[in-house]
Amino acid sequence: SVRWGLIGASTIARQFMIDAIRAQADGEVVAVMSSNSERARAYAGENGIPVAVSTLDALLSTDIDAVYISTTNELHLEQGLAAIKAGKHVMCEKPLALTSADAKQMVSAARKAGIVFGTNHHLRNAGSHRAMREAIAAGRIGKPIAARVFHSVFLPENLQGWRITRPEAGGGVVLDITVHDADTLRFVLGDDPVEISAFTQSAGMAGGGLEDGAMCIWRFKSGIIAQSHEGFTTKFAGTGFEVHGSEGSLFATNVMTQKPVGSVLLRNAKGEEELSFDREDLYTRSLRQFHAAIRGEGQPSATGEDGIWSLASAEAALQSSKTGKAVTIDPQL
Ligand code: NDP
Repeated sequence: SVRWGLIGASTIARQFMIDAIRAQADGEVVAVMSSNSERARAYAGENGIPVAVSTLDALLSTDIDAVYISTTNELHLEQGLAAIKAGKHVMCEKPLALTSADAKQMVSAARKAGIVFGTNHHLRNAGSHRAMREAIAAGRIGKPIAARVFHSVFLPENLQGWRITRPEAGGGVVLDITVHDADTLRFVLGDDPVEISAFTQSAGMAGGGLEDGAMCIWRFKSGIIAQSHEGFTTKFAGTGFEVHGSEGSLFATNVMTQKPVGSVLLRNAKGEEELSFDREDLYTRSLRQFHAAIRGEGQPSATGEDGIWSLASAEAALQSSKTGKAVTIDPQL
């Protein structure tokens, strides 16, 4: 079995990842670490987790095989390095760190230690995005020319904390959502971005100089151009992902989400066709791939390198928004 320790008594673990671990035939949640021992105990009690600890050392000396890191973003690096040093497999939340250089340090430490390292980019596990990727790879829209990502949401009240108040914790919509759009664009298009230009805004929710809205324009290696919109303040926008090619277009609606929902429409000279796709829970699939990787079968659905790519893209977007210039995306892998 794979015995998991949770680093961070977080919302995402409570809402999705504990269940996803337990959905695996061989997955067990053994321990949780919170910086506050009372919160650790309460969280363990509420979620049926046997061991509650309040230090990283205590967690890493528990009998566990893997850790899931879902603390605030400034903590991922130090916690990831410690877990790698202790020989634990690591599933780390995005962004992997505050800078791509730090992320690279962690990923290369994992490679040297021979442990499995994954980035929790859940969207590549969505049946909708996999159906789009397959349709494009099969040539169903001809040569892909342009993409549009609609990922501006309303940050729920219970999450209106560090994301909109704490720059030092890696707050802001770019590190929160643009990283996901970077990864999903790379996955669906099967291409890597080379350049980005971004405008960001503070539309009334985020403080501390943080951005709560962003619009980015991307150029990919093959020449594809894309636009993406990320936000925390638009209650009624809905989400979507479109790819337009020489022989057809894909329109995905309500797919930039944590749930296996939404629809994908293919339009071409023959008319319109609704693509059918798998509705498995995104996080359960992500964990299944991770467990397989531990057994030596394949790789996590999003690797450490994928996490470096998404963070390097977000970094470039933030730099572009500050300088008013287009910025090269180069993760130096
Ligand atoms: P939370 O704010 O729920 O948790 C982050 C940390 O905040 C926890 O580790 C905890 O610290 C502290 N905390 C949480 N609730 C409280 C509270 N009531 N009082 C005091 N402290 C509290 O963050 P999220 O779950 O939203 O995000 C965590 C990470 O996961 C981030 O890196 C984020 O980017 C990522 N994420 C990824 C998603 C995905 O789909 N891939 C979706 C959502 C988030 P402690 O552990 O010390 O108690």
